Amino acid sequence: MTEKEKVRIGIIGGSGLYSPDFLENAKEVKVYTPFGNPSSHIVVGEVRGVKVAFLPRHGRRHEIPPHMINYRANIWAMKELGVERLISVSAVGSLREDYKPGDFVCTDQFIDMTKRRVYTFYDGPEVAHVSMADPFCPELSSLCVSTARQLGIKIHERGTYVCIEGPRFSTRAESRLWRQFGADIIGMTLVPEVNLAREARMCFLNIAMVTDYDVWAEKPVTAHEVARVMAENTEKVKALLRELIPKIPEERKCNCARYMDEALL
Ligand SMILES: [Zn+2]
Repeated sequence: MTEKEKVRIGIIGGSGLYSPDFLENAKEVKVYTPFGNPSSHIVVGEVRGVKVAFLPRHGRRHEIPPHMINYRANIWAMKELGVERLISVSAVGSLREDYKPGDFVCTDQFIDMTKRRVYTFYDGPEVAHVSMADPFCPELSSLCVSTARQLGIKIHERGTYVCIEGPRFSTRAESRLWRQFGADIIGMTLVPEVNLAREARMCFLNIAMVTDYDVWAEKPVTAHEVARVMAENTEKVKALLRELIPKIPEERKCNCARYMDEALL
């Protein structure tokens, strides 16, 4: 692949964001990986002249549950296309009163409570222990927050995401426990996407869209309400991506690509 053909920005869409309809000149590409198929064909297109690769992590029709996603194939395929900056979009539950349904969160930390996933590209003989103290790209995060604010989207600039195994939701006791842990939002897909992206030397941004309060709040929500909030969030995140993507500088000033230099034994 020549430098010119590379697609440097990737988007992995979550619940609600399945369609690449916000891309211009879109075409499907099939990417082969050593780990099997990604969640679907990747669509390569443009956002105001900037090349972007898009992949819906649950498949086009939401047919892949969180614990069955082939995370390694997804990240490998993005890397294969040349992606250096990965934007992950996810629907989450809120663990605190002031993170309301409809709000966005620029995730800055996570707690991994998943149980049976494949977390690394390094299964030996090559061994890697990569730093995860700061899992998200500071450059992309601050750009995302300022752009959302310009658009009038309510976004919290910090948030700790607890990633549970799923596919079931939490018990009331678990939900209370996550709150005591200091988690702000809850979802099922951030891990191991974020770990693998770091191993692939990518910048990683997570835009978390709050759909409802988790079960701790004891606020009964209807599926209808959740669907309405999710549809509104999807429109807002498309508007955000359209503004954000052209602002991303081609040259990276962050450390995201360098963590692996110190990780390999
Ligand atoms: Zn970065």
